[in-house]
Amino acid sequence: MKKIVSLGIIALSFAFTALGQNTSKIFPKNIIFLIGDGMGVSQIYAGLTANKGHLALERIRHIGFHKNQATDNYVTDSAAGATAFSTGKKTYNGAIGMDATKTPQATLLELAEKKGLATGLVSTADITDATPAAFIAHQIKRSMHDEIAKDFLKTDVEIVVGGGRKSFDQRKDGQNLLDSLKAKKYQIVETIAEMNQIKQGKFYYLYAPGDPIKFSEGRGEVLLDATKKSLELLSRNKKGFFVMIEGGQIDWGGHANDANYAITEMVDFNKSIAAALDFAEKDKETLVVITADHETGGMALLGGDMTTGEVKASFITKGHTGQMVPVFAFGPGSEVFQGIYQNTAIFDKMKAALRLSQK
Ligand code: MG
Ligand code: ZN
Repeated sequence: MKKIVSLGIIALSFAFTALGQNTSKIFPKNIIFLIGDGMGVSQIYAGLTANKGHLALERIRHIGFHKNQATDNYVTDSAAGATAFSTGKKTYNGAIGMDATKTPQATLLELAEKKGLATGLVSTADITDATPAAFIAHQIKRSMHDEIAKDFLKTDVEIVVGGGRKSFDQRKDGQNLLDSLKAKKYQIVETIAEMNQIKQGKFYYLYAPGDPIKFSEGRGEVLLDATKKSLELLSRNKKGFFVMIEGGQIDWGGHANDANYAITEMVDFNKSIAAALDFAEKDKETLVVITADHETGGMALLGGDMTTGEVKASFITKGHTGQMVPVFAFGPGSEVFQGIYQNTAIFDKMKAALRLSQK
């Protein structure tokens, strides 16, 4: 009798595990890839503390770590880090969608487009900055913003939200890429309200001429609203979608050695993570992957209070550090993100999950 009961409990717990992780299908139809730039374990825990003891990341069971070294440096930058995720190739710091021999490599977003998936790029940084750029551009140096902007027109990405408008409409070559985008049937919106009103079709919302302002200085809910709008529109595509959503300024808080800056950006990013998990929980065909390219600042937590949200933090560098950073995965196919692996393996796992072919 005892044996039968315990077997029953084992069977039940397997069933619950499966339900809890939405493993109703082995392959997901969609991927939401969220990158917290500079988001190491300290940034996450500082955000959790500031958020009074909880973050949406706690809903996730499948957790791993990635090794993020670049080919030319133990400490990666965002260009080599994002290129590893977007192309599966290790490269040198500064490379955008290029391998270490400066050969352009097909990106996950491009492969998804080729297969008929709808795609999007959303960031709280300049959209031509390294992280989003590595998913759609191929340039030898991350500082080539005008060239990177031009690469955006080569792929039929459906949704683009970020700063960096000047690389589109105040260019050295005098071209206005916003006009070229309009000719390609993109809606160009200029306010959050306009974006929120879009009912269908593809659009660009370049909400700052250069770097967007901080959340603490009034950026508003652009990241959360763009996350919700992209999930609403991209999910109408029958073949599925791939979207990369970046919390780009957690890194800038680290570079400034400003704990409050990094934390408020982390808490802002958390809202998009929650929205992505809510979507995936309902949809059951969406894999959500959340990670960072690297840690920034060597942030250490020296004290805090979960009830008041106070955090006492210190930094050891104005740059990035070489430590492993966590990977969180939720939904169908999320089991394979457990363990410790190279940052390039995240590309391999996502490509396999969407059954994308390199050709
Ligand atoms: Mg970035
Ligand atoms: Zn950085």
